Amino acid sequence: MSIRVRFAPSPTGSLHIGGARTALFNWLYARHMGGKFILRIEDTDAARNSQDAMDAIIGGLHWLGIDWDEGPITGDATGACKGDRGPYFQSQRRDNYQQRVSALQSRDLAYERDGAIYFRMSKDPITIPDLVCGDVTRAPTDREAKDPDFVIVRADGQPVFHLVNVVDDIEMDITHVIRGEDHLSNTPKHIALFRAFGIEPPKFAHIPLILNPNGSKMGKRDTGASVAYYQEQGYAPEAVLNYLCLLGWTPQDERNIFTAEDVIKEFDLPQIHRSAARFDGDKLKWVNFEHIKGMSNDRYYELATHALTSAGINTSEHPIDYVKAALDTVREKIKTFTE
Ligand code: GLU
Repeated sequence: MSIRVRFAPSPTGSLHIGGARTALFNWLYARHMGGKFILRIEDTDAARNSQDAMDAIIGGLHWLGIDWDEGPITGDATGACKGDRGPYFQSQRRDNYQQRVSALQSRDLAYERDGAIYFRMSKDPITIPDLVCGDVTRAPTDREAKDPDFVIVRADGQPVFHLVNVVDDIEMDITHVIRGEDHLSNTPKHIALFRAFGIEPPKFAHIPLILNPNGSKMGKRDTGASVAYYQEQGYAPEAVLNYLCLLGWTPQDERNIFTAEDVIKEFDLPQIHRSAARFDGDKLKWVNFEHIKGMSNDRYYELATHALTSAGINTSEHPIDYVKAALDTVREKIKTFTE
């Protein structure tokens, strides 16, 4: 079986550290297995989407070196990946959802009530065979047991997340859904939808949350919660990628410093930790320090020069050997390029 995974962000904010880690784990798994990694923008909720969020997602993935494999030819729809393929945009796939809803209605698996379309949800407990969490059985709550049916198309015609997410996973032949644990509560609905469409659900791997150092859930507004912050603060993308891996995964030899190529060789889903990861900004800084020491000279000069340019210092006004010699004097001292 050829592995097909996807990162399916909603373009509603910055690229969060948690989102970047989800993208990374999907990408690592695809690359490890020789499969395909798909980027799918879940943008059906027009009121909540923004172009800035789109740019942050695409820009952040590019910065980290996470590339995707397929999608429609984009023309200039996304700027950052002009001429490339993909990503897929759900807003361009409405006909598919409409057809799938009609199919459910014609088999009486969905029905109209008050202008909205409801899915007839199973009343039986549903077991999620999760590759990270093990078997998770969710029985409907009392309220759900009375009326477990849920809306799949709103009265204004907008298809709902659960529906579009499952339809696309079916049509994109997704074999493994790797996503944040916050979606575990949605998964019974998704499994029921897969079954209603007569499709064997994909394998699920829900990755534990990322916590702040004090144990609270890392929210969108916490300092350092977005990838852009590290771009601006002088971190090397290879160091951030390295650190994101450590949020929920450990290499067999338990070393802390590695490259994407190293991880691709051994990354697998059962090794993902079951407990939440704590974000440790000091450790990330140390990882960055180690990468700065260990990277090639050319890479060091490239990132350092870029940081100087961002700070308004034009290195091209000086002889290149002078610039390099000056940079060499601080290489073992700086923890970030902004320093
Ligand atoms: N759009 C959902 C999110 O951003 C995708 C969830 C999934 O990966 O299935 O959380």
